[in-house]
Amino acid sequence: MNPYQTIPSAILNDAGLNCHAVFELAQLSPDVREMLLARCPRAAQYQQLILIGHGGQRFCEALKESGAELVREEGKHPVDDFSVATVQHYLDNDWPGCEHEIVYPGAYTVSLQELGKLAGWHHDSPFMVGVNQHFGSWFAYRCLVLANTELPVTPAYCDASPCDSCASKICISACPAKALEGGEFNLMKCINYRRQPESKCRTTCIARVSCPVGTEHRYPREQIAYHYGRSIAMIEAYAKKE
Ligand code: SF4
Ligand code: SF4
Repeated sequence: MNPYQTIPSAILNDAGLNCHAVFELAQLSPDVREMLLARCPRAAQYQQLILIGHGGQRFCEALKESGAELVREEGKHPVDDFSVATVQHYLDNDWPGCEHEIVYPGAYTVSLQELGKLAGWHHDSPFMVGVNQHFGSWFAYRCLVLANTELPVTPAYCDASPCDSCASKICISACPAKALEGGEFNLMKCINYRRQPESKCRTTCIARVSCPVGTEHRYPREQIAYHYGRSIAMIEAYAKKE
């Protein structure tokens, strides 16, 4: 059973948006509240902050069932568009007239990983993607909503990082760039390797795929290729500007 699926909404869950954490703004630590207020000046007028993610394979299936395609095209964001449309549908259906604001995806840069840690979804992995015992690394943050909803606040789900008890740490040895050696992620080694024409990591991360945790939730190949294809395109575009 998915321990992060706490909002019983068929609209969200049937779309694969099956990870939820509801925070009462007033109960967030001063640090987190300050971070939010600095980035979303209107945050103070809302009562709740809702973090919504997807875990596993259903999200990609549902996106395709909606008629969208996972293709990389300039100016197109099918993952964000599908996520926002689904969350908006949920809010309109379950909370009609309720004031709300979708702050991610959007102009604000809120630290989703910090919120994921607060929710108990996110432990750091050697390859710098969040990992947990249920989904392994096969989950992602899709929407962050400020709202005057009255949802039950989600107790933080506290489990240990799967990396703590992972004897093989196979992700580290699997990285062809040796970018994870010594316990620190070496971003430049990773990028330099990924940019090589013969790289095995242009549209995937071999380290991530080698992790044995949550393999039944691994994204379909096309979804992995989509996300890593976007990141390599951004890396190449940035390199061209330099
Ligand atoms: S292979 Fe082991 S150390 Fe690497 S991410 Fe998976 S659980 Fe953590
Ligand atoms: S993308 Fe490739 S080079 Fe970068 S960390 Fe993953 S396995 Fe290593």
